[in-house]
Amino acid sequence: MERKILLIYTGGTIGMKQDPETLLLKPFDFHQITREVPELKKFGYVIDALSFDPVIDSSDVNPAFWVKLAGILKANYDFYDGFVVLHGTDTMAYSASAMSFMLENLEKPVIFTGSQLPIGMLRTDGKENLISSIELAAAQDAEGHPHISEVCIYFDSQLFRGNRTTKYNAENFRAFRSANYPPLAEVGIHIRYNESALYRPPVRGRDLVLHTALDTHVAVLKIFPGISEPLVRAILSTEGLRAVVLETYGSGNSLSDPWFLGALAAFTQAGGIIVNVTQCQAGTVDMGAYANGDILRQAGLVCGRDMTTEAALTKLFVLLGQYADNKIVAEKIEIGVSGEIS
Ligand code: ASP
Repeated sequence: MERKILLIYTGGTIGMKQDPETLLLKPFDFHQITREVPELKKFGYVIDALSFDPVIDSSDVNPAFWVKLAGILKANYDFYDGFVVLHGTDTMAYSASAMSFMLENLEKPVIFTGSQLPIGMLRTDGKENLISSIELAAAQDAEGHPHISEVCIYFDSQLFRGNRTTKYNAENFRAFRSANYPPLAEVGIHIRYNESALYRPPVRGRDLVLHTALDTHVAVLKIFPGISEPLVRAILSTEGLRAVVLETYGSGNSLSDPWFLGALAAFTQAGGIIVNVTQCQAGTVDMGAYANGDILRQAGLVCGRDMTTEAALTKLFVLLGQYADNKIVAEKIEIGVSGEIS
């Protein structure tokens, strides 16, 4: 049977081309995608395109955008074999992480991609990113199931698990990195899947469940030498704040000043959640490794292990939206749900 792919264009650099008169970059009409990228006709798949209106720079992404995107994926889920989401690179890792927690029981590929140079430019990286993403989204295994059954980011020949990815380069074509989890596939002359790294649904045919109640009463706080007491107290006393993602040093260590530890402990004792993630690019939090990590455990922090900040934040949004009781969220945040923790 002919495979069907839905392309969802949300905005970002990839969907722009130069206006021949003004020379300015403008989003092009994605319904005409095959006119812009005639190579797509060679696939022999049905490729439908749908565009957000208005399209946005991904710096403007917010939870309402995620709810809209998740709704589109759900509404079209039964009619397509795979989905390619064209998205700006700036917040792509946040959006891919959010989708991985908002779409429960996902069994089909949702592949985010974009580009550093617009698709209408000669040296664009957008064409390869788009064409390979479509091929990956349409790929099937020997039993005819989707080869990929999760939310991914495809960029510069590498397919990553979305909630493991961060944007780390503002300039290079290789803009994304997944430091704590291997690529799911490498695209060269052949597409080489890393079979043991791919998510396999335990059973197939379950209904896709959407989690769209997002509670954003969360802060991200990065510690640094010289961080001041008023700053920390101001953040922790934010009205309605339920959780904090604390970016600590190394394997989860922090300053040991009594005012700092006291402020954290007061927040957790009052029922707030503080998730300890590392500001390092790679590696994991282990609050048992150093005395300066153990003090955080004593202050009531929960361990984010090797979760990215993007994953920890969006997972909190979804869990807090699901559960009014912070105790349940604190327990669940440490348990992997979409392959976001090693
Ligand atoms: N600012 C753009 C965006 O994220 C950058 C890009 O698309 O690469 O939408």
